[in-house]
Amino acid sequence: MIDILPIRTQPTTASRLASVDFDHLEFGKAFSDHMFAVDFVNGEWQEAQIVPYGDMAVSPANSALHYGQAIFEGMKAYHQHDGGVALFRPLDNWARLNSSAERMCMPTISEELFMNGLRELLKLDAAWVPSAPGSSLYIRPFMFATDGFIGVRPSETYRFMIFTCPVGLYFNKPLRVRFEQKYVRSAEGGAGYAKNAGNYGAAMYPTKLAQNEGYNQLIWTDASQHQYVEESGTMNAIFVMDGKVVTPALSTSILDGVTRRSVLQLARDMGLTVEERKVGSREVMDALAAGKLEEAFGVGTAATIAPIATIGYEGHDYDLPVTGAQAFSKRVTAALDAIRTGEGADVHNWMVRI
Ligand code: PMP
Repeated sequence: MIDILPIRTQPTTASRLASVDFDHLEFGKAFSDHMFAVDFVNGEWQEAQIVPYGDMAVSPANSALHYGQAIFEGMKAYHQHDGGVALFRPLDNWARLNSSAERMCMPTISEELFMNGLRELLKLDAAWVPSAPGSSLYIRPFMFATDGFIGVRPSETYRFMIFTCPVGLYFNKPLRVRFEQKYVRSAEGGAGYAKNAGNYGAAMYPTKLAQNEGYNQLIWTDASQHQYVEESGTMNAIFVMDGKVVTPALSTSILDGVTRRSVLQLARDMGLTVEERKVGSREVMDALAAGKLEEAFGVGTAATIAPIATIGYEGHDYDLPVTGAQAFSKRVTAALDAIRTGEGADVHNWMVRI
């Protein structure tokens, strides 16, 4: 049982709920009525607040803007079959936020503060959780430095916040991707395993170059040799090769995705062989040529599973086989959807009720 810490709550007097078109939700554009905020001052977290969603004042010298002490999470809550609301594996996101915080020299958050803030915010904005099939409430917890000081050192003050966005069914258009051979997202020993803002800013230029060539996203490869698969855009990459589920092993350069972890667990539950190891780009292309690459897809909170249709490699494009209804990616998506909506048995206790 989680202790209830006091949260000073100022409910909105002008809900925006009626102004949102729930039939045409664009990812990340509609924000629920309230946001959660707590400041870290004098070495401790202060009284938390829930206030109407809105702009904030920041110092032009805000050190997060200059030196990038800013981290975030992405997670979802789902409308349940029986009418309630439940979060998917929230403690995994809490733990990852703290691991990012440590890497970025920022303070960690207690489970009570994180979970209590989430629960209270979601209770207040429960009407914002969409109920149409495939829809969910996307949740964005984040933390940033708040010192108004431009000396290069860790900030002494921080703010942790949570806001939420109703999101519709993600249309999984099969992706055109290409192996990146020049730029890197992250390197061993860097901060690629953390969700710090800078990782995302630095990935935009190489991604843009690939998009100009007609690809949707990149398959990042290792920093030293560009030979091994790292991730697919902002998703973890999974391949079904020779009947096995194969994915790059975690390292300091790969984000430990909650969806990846869940998909691998469900694969094992289905009796499939799962291999977490180095995956060569050459190996993937050889398997494709030999007819042994059955599926390739990205996995992440936003899309759940994004199938890859075409891979660009050394200047040529190669099409993957079209997957049938029995493809692993389709079966695992259905299994995850059933757990998230409460229609399927939650044998691993992933769902947390609000
Ligand atoms: N890799 C990167 C770089 C990401 O930003 C994300 C999204 N958080 C993922 C993988 C997938 O992680 P998750 O399944 O936890 O959303």
